Amino acid sequence: MLHDYFKARGLRDKVKLRYNYPVNHVHATANVARWAKPLFDEAGIEYETFFNVKEVDPAKRIVYSEEGSEVQYDLLIAIPPHRGMQVIEENKLGDAGWIPTDRFKLTMEGRDNVYVIGDAGNVPVSKTGSVAHCEAELVADYCRHAGRASIEGWPFYVAFAMFRPAALSQGLAGRVRDGTAANANAAQNAAAVRPLAETAWAFAKRAGATG
Ligand SMILES: Cc1cc2nc3c(=O)[nH]c(=O)nc-3n(C[C@H](O)[C@H](O)[C@H](O)COP(=O)(O)OP(=O)(O)OC[C@H]3O[C@@H](n4cnc5c(N)ncnc54)[C@H](O)[C@@H]3O)c2cc1C
Repeated sequence: MLHDYFKARGLRDKVKLRYNYPVNHVHATANVARWAKPLFDEAGIEYETFFNVKEVDPAKRIVYSEEGSEVQYDLLIAIPPHRGMQVIEENKLGDAGWIPTDRFKLTMEGRDNVYVIGDAGNVPVSKTGSVAHCEAELVADYCRHAGRASIEGWPFYVAFAMFRPAALSQGLAGRVRDGTAANANAAQNAAAVRPLAETAWAFAKRAGATG
């Protein structure tokens, strides 16, 4: 995205892009790493693998790795250590913000009718959208085999989940209108407002909303 952003503004030759990643490939998934590496080379993006952030010195603008290397930066974009969710911790649903989860059934420990998928659970797997997707399929299979036809209140949850990206897309549409959207695909993404909002509203009505 940054490569395209600077290229579109005619600034790419003035900016050095560098990518650091903690394992020994440019992505943990081998297929993605194989695909991405030549693209990085083609785009002139430098990379260093086996780079686990140890410390950042904002005054000197240096990031140090556990492996002993260091990188000088003007702008650092870093992913902070992963933490559990505040809402889970505050409501005493689980320590450190993760819900204790049965790793085989994906149910909440001690509750057979509550399923935990995605980042909320404490199952020791990576917290990614792709894992959440697979977990959802597993729960669906499990429910089917257990003779559970539906999840109580499901339309409400889907409506809730859909309105959020609809609102985000609406914000993007505003930036497209004002000419301040940075992403090259902004107009296309902003066009998702209506289908998302309509789907959300259809589910809201199934959940009992009127109007
Ligand atoms: C920078 C970054 C890059 C990523 N890249 C990838 C990638 O390339 N591929 C990949 O598969 N995954 C990626 N992920 C991980 C992926 O985004 C998450 O694993 C995934 O979104 C988890 O889905 P979830 O539904 O469990 O949680 P979330 O998507 O976090 O959804 C939780 C929702 O709960 C809401 N919420 C929180 N508190 C409250 C409250 N009190 N009341 C109501 N709602 C609340 C939040 O607003 C949020 O909408 C990335 C994550 C980050 C941060």
